[in-house]
Amino acid sequence: MSLGVRMSLRTRMAVTAVAASAAALTAVLVLVGPGLRARAAARERETLLAEARLMARVAEEHLGRGGSLADLDPIVDAAAGEVRARVTIIALDGRVVADSTVSGPDLAALENHGQRPEVREALASGAGSDVRHSATTGEDLMYAAVPVHLGKDVHAVARVAHSLADIDEQVRELRHTVVLSLLLAFAITTALSALFSSSLVGPLREIMQAARQLAAGDLTTRIRVQRRDELAELAGILNHAAAQLQQRVLELSRDHARTDAILSAMEEGVLAVDYKGLVLVANDALRQHFDLSEPLGRHYLEVVRQREVSEIIEGVLQDGERRTSEIEVPRLHLVFAVTGVSFPGADGLAPGAILTFHNTTERRRLERVRRDFVANASHELRTPLTSIRGFVEALEDGAAADPALATRFLGKIHAQADRMAALADDLLELSRLESEERAPNWTNVRPGAVAAEVAASLAALATERGIALAQRDEGAPEVVSDAECLRRILENIVDNALKYTQEGGRVEVVASPADGGGAVVEVRDNGPGIAAEHLPRIFERFYRVDKARSRELGGTGLGLAIVKHLAESVGARVEVESRPGRGSCFRLRIPPTHD
Ligand code: ADP
Repeated sequence: MSLGVRMSLRTRMAVTAVAASAAALTAVLVLVGPGLRARAAARERETLLAEARLMARVAEEHLGRGGSLADLDPIVDAAAGEVRARVTIIALDGRVVADSTVSGPDLAALENHGQRPEVREALASGAGSDVRHSATTGEDLMYAAVPVHLGKDVHAVARVAHSLADIDEQVRELRHTVVLSLLLAFAITTALSALFSSSLVGPLREIMQAARQLAAGDLTTRIRVQRRDELAELAGILNHAAAQLQQRVLELSRDHARTDAILSAMEEGVLAVDYKGLVLVANDALRQHFDLSEPLGRHYLEVVRQREVSEIIEGVLQDGERRTSEIEVPRLHLVFAVTGVSFPGADGLAPGAILTFHNTTERRRLERVRRDFVANASHELRTPLTSIRGFVEALEDGAAADPALATRFLGKIHAQADRMAALADDLLELSRLESEERAPNWTNVRPGAVAAEVAASLAALATERGIALAQRDEGAPEVVSDAECLRRILENIVDNALKYTQEGGRVEVVASPADGGGAVVEVRDNGPGIAAEHLPRIFERFYRVDKARSRELGGTGLGLAIVKHLAESVGARVEVESRPGRGSCFRLRIPPTHD
């Protein structure tokens, strides 16, 4: 068996074929050879008996003509020419009376043949035969004998003898032929089996090679076998299996790609862990949020070090219940609404947990901004209301009786009412801008002309405040924008400059071309300036550097917030540069056209 395992298919086929043909030919040799000799001997016996009968007939005719046994020899000698064999006529007493090979005295000297088995058998049953080895010739001889009759009496026995050397020769020849055929068959079978097996081995090798490639994962491999047999069928089955597998893999990878695309398109972070807590999925959003490099395959504790996250994961892994929680990651300044659910484990393993991280930082910020805004707005409205109530109470308490005081108080009430109205106007404008109710009215606008218009409209105020207001156009190009919007922006900025710059100061409005196209309008003043720490915040609603001074000047704290919104609505940008004590410069950058 071990030999069989080690032998190649080709050798095994050759050995089997040769062994089979050898066995068949040996069987022929063993089974047919001896039978053949027996059959040939039987045929020879029949022939010899016929010849013996012929010779008996010759003797009978001689005796019938009145001849005697004694002078039969010459007749036998003559008749023996008709047959191939030695003919002997034996008298009933066993004497040899005629012999085709011996005559005269030699004949008389022949020993008595009466006891020869064939002679006795012939006399007993009418026909006898025997095979004996002749010491003289060294050959096997076959004898056949029949009685010689005359009327009803038996007078002698006619016997013929013939060497079996021919038959032996034939059998030998047959053996030679068989051995030769055997050798020839060996040669032919070996050649044929080699030819046949090599015709099998080639395609088999190809199939094996392809199967190896398939096993190694190359599913594009196909077997090309130009045959119409079992090998072709096997190749077909393998090809079909490969195609099926390839299709399956393709579908799986398509599914995978789809899931990946969905996961990476998600704004929410997704983290999936198996029952041991090893990370299976961490999508792009999660990687970005938590700045993860290679989270897959690691334990979640190494990846997201946050107590609340561990609690959710452990809880879900334990009982499979859905959990939600809001967690704050101070390190990242982010807040997440985290939901954890269970998901089935692979191949009968315990379920894992999948967590989504919804970034609620912005929502939280907006909520805070809104809360602050409501508080601020209420506070801003409350202040003038409180003072109006104070003046009204003072009037009620008797100040009304003093006309001068009453007039002063009424004036104060008026001023506070104006402030409230201004505040209400600004709030309304801001809410309109935030809700984006009004679409910009795009037209060709010359920023220089808008600046000139604003300067002209505020010239009286500047004079009133003792401030020199100058305006220049240094070749600002025409842009596509909303003229009214630009006007309101500049009005607010110039108004601020006039408001905060001390008497005797100067304010300049300069329109010029921008480097990358479009225009820039700068409003420069030599007022008190703004300290660096306030600069990032002055565009926030209600943010004021000096609250008291702003109020005193009738400011609402909303002007720059409105400016920012207006600028955004036409794609423009407002920047500020300022140094305390050196003045401020507000720069409005207007793009050449809108998107
Ligand atoms: P306000 O109604 O108080 O003027 P704004 O939003 O217009 O509100 O301005 C916000 C704050 O920015 C002001 O309170 C003021 O402190 C500061 N500010 C604005 N413009 C100037 C300027 N040209 N010079 C100095 N400070 C300014």
